[in-house]
Amino acid sequence: MKNIPLSFEFFPPKTEEGIANLRRTRKQLATFQPEFFSVTFGAGGSTRDRTMDAVFEIQNEGYAAAPHISCISATKDEVRELLKAYQAKEIKRLVTLRGDLPSGVVSVGDFKYANELVDFIRQETGDWFHIEVAAYPEVHPESTSVASDINNFKKKVDAGANSAITQYFYNIDAYFQFLESCQKANISLPIIPGVMPIYNYTQLARFSGMCGAEIPRWLRLRLEAYGDDMASLRDFGVDVISELCEKLLAAGVPSLHFYTLNQAGIVSKIINNVTD
Ligand code: FAD
Repeated sequence: MKNIPLSFEFFPPKTEEGIANLRRTRKQLATFQPEFFSVTFGAGGSTRDRTMDAVFEIQNEGYAAAPHISCISATKDEVRELLKAYQAKEIKRLVTLRGDLPSGVVSVGDFKYANELVDFIRQETGDWFHIEVAAYPEVHPESTSVASDINNFKKKVDAGANSAITQYFYNIDAYFQFLESCQKANISLPIIPGVMPIYNYTQLARFSGMCGAEIPRWLRLRLEAYGDDMASLRDFGVDVISELCEKLLAAGVPSLHFYTLNQAGIVSKIINNVTD
């Protein structure tokens, strides 16, 4: 098997059943020897304790765990406390984000953008953490232009980010164009493609609409045509995403980061396809 650097993203489970499922998923995905498992952080800190629990469990099992941390509506004291807790458990990597305000919440907190959080983490903890930030090959939905989005991405890099993970994309050219724009802007950190396997079309279409990741027309029409035939949809999705990963690897990407939705089966099939 080719040795590809990989990382896997989970969300913090809510129930005992979800916790048990995540343990099984992790065990299966650990066979690919990922660089780290990351755990998302709910909008406005809503999953703070569950994210911590999942991260500490992963770390206790002997794997590298990277909590996501978002700053929208957070105070400096809250972030400081979280950083101390992670340092005490020898967590060495953070996925650092602004996050989105949950609907109905108006408190903005002490930070407006992710670059301010990166800056604060560096001030508080020096080089302790490897800091990952988010990147958007198809442009963040709030951005008014490609240029301003790149400029804002650079602010996170200049504040001390070590590497970036992208929003998922199905237009591979958008990723390559993004790398080119970054190069022109003297941004030289590794930009790792985030890979979203196709699990469920309705869910994917809804999420893609919100986060600005385009499902190309040809792909959307093919996926829609499967209707309720989930098995065929997933088989087709595995082929499409395997091909995307093969092209990315052929282009020399530093690593692949999989959005797993806490499921191991589809991700494992894709990795097995590209490592055969
Ligand atoms: P920022 O980098 O702050 O950018 C947000 C917007 O503001 C962009 O349009 C940017 O161009 C603009 N901007 C940035 N800085 C400035 C500035 N200084 N001045 C003016 N404009 C600026 N969300 C969660 O809630 N929890 C998670 O765990 C989570 N994990 C994620 C993991 C990955 C890999 C990715 C790609 C996204 C994740 N998200 C998560 C979603 C993310 O929080 C949203 O996309 C959010 O809208 C933007 O976060 P950001 O860190 O990219 O923000």
